[in-house]
Amino acid sequence: MSGQTVLILGGGWGGLTAAHHLRGLLSAEHRVVVIERSTTFSLGLSNLGLMTGERLLPNVRRDMTKLKRDGIEWIQAEIRGVDPVARTVDTDSGVLSGDHIVIALGADLAPESTPGFTDSAHNLYDIEEAAGLHAELRRLEAGRIVVLVAGAPYRCPAAPYEAAMLIEAWTRENGTRDQIEIDLYTPESIPMAVAGPAVGQALCSMLDERGIVHHFEQQVTAIDGTSRTLRFENGEASYDLLIGIPAHRAPAVLQEAGVVAAGGYVPVHPQTLEILLDVDTLEVQYPGVYAIGDVAAIRLLNSALLPKAGVFAEAEAQVVAAAIAAEIDNEPRPSVYDGHGFCYVDVGDGLAAHGSGNFYAYPGPRINLTEPSATGRRAKLEYEQLLDTWFDA
Ligand SMILES: Cc1cc2nc3c(=O)[nH]c(=O)nc-3n(C[C@H](O)[C@H](O)[C@H](O)COP(=O)(O)OP(=O)(O)OC[C@H]3O[C@@H](n4cnc5c(N)ncnc54)[C@H](O)[C@@H]3O)c2cc1C
Repeated sequence: MSGQTVLILGGGWGGLTAAHHLRGLLSAEHRVVVIERSTTFSLGLSNLGLMTGERLLPNVRRDMTKLKRDGIEWIQAEIRGVDPVARTVDTDSGVLSGDHIVIALGADLAPESTPGFTDSAHNLYDIEEAAGLHAELRRLEAGRIVVLVAGAPYRCPAAPYEAAMLIEAWTRENGTRDQIEIDLYTPESIPMAVAGPAVGQALCSMLDERGIVHHFEQQVTAIDGTSRTLRFENGEASYDLLIGIPAHRAPAVLQEAGVVAAGGYVPVHPQTLEILLDVDTLEVQYPGVYAIGDVAAIRLLNSALLPKAGVFAEAEAQVVAAAIAAEIDNEPRPSVYDGHGFCYVDVGDGLAAHGSGNFYAYPGPRINLTEPSATGRRAKLEYEQLLDTWFDA
């Protein structure tokens, strides 16, 4: 068969995993094309290290032009439309046609959906703002730090809890812990609810041990930056330094393409990642058109959604890359996604807990969380080697 083109929409964690795997599986006559608006790549988890000062911006950002070296074409463009039937993508650089499409556009951040957020909160999920937070932490000698989750679901359900614990450890090292209160507000009912009550309780205990006050089922409605007040559906709270996780939403371009469901994201088959017509019958709407990572909605057997995290984006990307390569080479599909996943929860002091298990288990995910360890922390930092593998090796 003559050369085919795989279009990968979005060059984030999932999109670049798919691109590298495809490049390894396909012969050179086939094109692997990544359409990505940003000129740089970074891993979201590096934002935590930027906040604590353990990382510096130039060390965690990589230049997308380096992809060319591996035979991956990067088109810097804003995607404006997707036609999953014609398999075309409308961009501000023109219309592109593919034989295969992988949608990996992630979740958009929507700070503007919380009045006052943009002007008053330091957005932990924005790489520049996360880097700027370190100076704010250094400036604060006394007062109240609030970690605020403005809406759920959001990327990496562990990240706000990690941020609070890393700040706690940092203030101890900095000698300011006794003058600083740390509080966390979230609309969730327990931390990482999808992982089950035992994991949630373990995380609450970790926060309690560190004197971090947690406030669950608190939906923020507005932030007043002048009086430094958070307004919730039921009550108010004050802050001196506000670290915010903004609300998320599916990329607007997909709403118009008609591939998002009522919940806002793209419903996909839990094993093949093809876009679904019906989440109950698992009837596929567009065979051979895939959505992976944060943009995808995978309904679990307890009706919760698979969390938004890079490890899932990565595992899904590998499955999809193998399926596309098999289709191109006219071979049977080699594997499906089995729902296994893991995460490391950074707790400060050079330690991280390791949560892992089967998210596709019945009647719901079976996840085990270990005690924090130095080995767990080292394993977490190893993620950043992806940067070297993809861009520097
Ligand atoms: C602070 C923090 C800590 C985290 N820690 C972890 C962790 O420890 N473990 C873990 O597994 N995950 C972690 N995550 C989550 C992880 O970063 C995301 O889940 C992961 O990046 C999702 O991959 P993705 O490919 O689906 O989306 P993304 O990586 O967000 O990539 C989407 C890409 O699409 C591009 N794009 C979107 N719309 C358009 C458009 N219209 N035109 C062109 N390009 C577009 C974006 O620019 C982006 O590059 C963390 C995230 C944060 C913020």
